[in-house]
Amino acid sequence: MSGTAGEPWDAVVVGAGLSGLVAARCLRRCGRSVRVLEARSRVGGRTLTVPFAGGVADLGGQWVGPTQKRVLGLAAELGVATYPQHHQGRKVLELDGRRRTYRGFLPRLPIFSLLELALALRRLDRRAKAVPLDTPWTAPDAARLDRQTFGDWLRRNLRRRPSRELLAAACRAIFACEPEDLSLLYFLHYAHAGDGLECLASIPAGAQESRLRGGAQQLCQRLAEELGDAVWLEAAVAAIDQDEARVRLRLADGRRLAARCAILALAPALAAGIAIEPPLPPPRRELETGMAMGSVVKCLVAYDEPFWRRAGLSGEAVTNGRPASIVFDACAPDGAYAALVAFVLGDEARAFGRLPEAARREAIVAQLVRLFGPPAAAATAYLDRDWRAERWSGGCYVGLMPPGLLRRAGDALRAPCGRLHFAGTESARRWVGYLDGAIEAGERAAHEVLERLAEEGGLV
Ligand SMILES: Cc1cc2nc3c(=O)[nH]c(=O)nc-3n(C[C@H](O)[C@H](O)[C@H](O)COP(=O)(O)OP(=O)(O)OC[C@H]3O[C@@H](n4cnc5c(N)ncnc54)[C@H](O)[C@@H]3O)c2cc1C
Repeated sequence: MSGTAGEPWDAVVVGAGLSGLVAARCLRRCGRSVRVLEARSRVGGRTLTVPFAGGVADLGGQWVGPTQKRVLGLAAELGVATYPQHHQGRKVLELDGRRRTYRGFLPRLPIFSLLELALALRRLDRRAKAVPLDTPWTAPDAARLDRQTFGDWLRRNLRRRPSRELLAAACRAIFACEPEDLSLLYFLHYAHAGDGLECLASIPAGAQESRLRGGAQQLCQRLAEELGDAVWLEAAVAAIDQDEARVRLRLADGRRLAARCAILALAPALAAGIAIEPPLPPPRRELETGMAMGSVVKCLVAYDEPFWRRAGLSGEAVTNGRPASIVFDACAPDGAYAALVAFVLGDEARAFGRLPEAARREAIVAQLVRLFGPPAAAATAYLDRDWRAERWSGGCYVGLMPPGLLRRAGDALRAPCGRLHFAGTESARRWVGYLDGAIEAGERAAHEVLERLAEEGGLV
């Protein structure tokens, strides 16, 4: 690439999601010059807070849990308060059209299904704990675990349909994909990184314990405010080349800039859209082409009042029906609106996303009537977001690994390639796929760059 204009920055960060903004702030605070290049006309990436029913609502990431110390610390530092996710009341489980309500973590299934489910959860958690967070490919029996999908494991280990269907629904809820899409080793690593399956699937003491008052995107907006004009919007990076001294970046609109290092703070599947010279090593390229994003349409439905609470229901539902797999209470903390949030996930999201908006609304409202009763028909507002249709996300919540990939290419998630470093929640050690993981990865990549710059001394 020739004709690079402007001064060489110490570092350029590609992507103004949480990971990239944290990395940039870390570099800036250590006295380094930095630019953040963001393809969209907004910061926040997979966080997105929008006006809804007289208040605001999150169409992207929204929950934080008690062991997610990084995101809780950042929220406190930035003055973004948390509030508890509503969970009081009975939950709804609907399997194969049969609806029941329950309290606690495990639903009321027929006794043998319940035993099978409890045993399966124990086995999965035990196996997950044996998968090293840093090097999951060194887990005992890694080759066998990585050859099969989570779907294979379900078929082999759960003989009863209710327990199998419930764990498949949990897989959709946590990963936004089908059990057949996911390597078992990757599933176990993700579960370990998120403090176990119960923590991943729970509200109290779990990953859904709290929400951020005013919305999760504020974290990114406040970081971007601090960074000021270092953040460039509508600055999609099209190509990068590097030699021993510099990284040169070309934007889609033809602008060019140079830096001593760059951090790609985006999902591997998105990094695949950038032409990089010299080509990245084969394992890194395999990650970028192999880690497909999950499929989720997040749907918000507003009501005049939280009628489900009056009926003794928490608003939480798990179902193997269509189109949504899980539902939660989504009322605004200040009483601005009452709402439920429904997640359409995996294969179903692909079909649902193709429907016109009126049909999507009708299908979701009809399902809420089945789950929560006739008052659910009186929806006052509807809003959804198909993350597969988002060019600069390509799906959500996270990039996923099919069988074989973690062993073949897992070590390329974090390994720098020349002057290119990698952040983004996919490269986290803990809370992979979550806001907390995005922060961890941003901090780690920033420290790698700081060390390199310190070793090299002044401008090269
Ligand atoms: C519906 C949904 C629900 C979720 N729920 C939760 C939750 O409750 N709790 C939780 O912790 N997490 C949740 N997540 C996940 C969480 O939002 C993500 O883990 C986190 O936001 C990822 O941040 P990131 O910075 O790693 O990546 P991103 O936010 O994806 O940031 C990458 C950025 O790079 C930009 N970009 C892409 N390509 C280019 C290019 N070529 N040039 C320049 N810029 C580019 C993108 O526009 C984007 O802004 C959810 C996500 C979704 C979508």
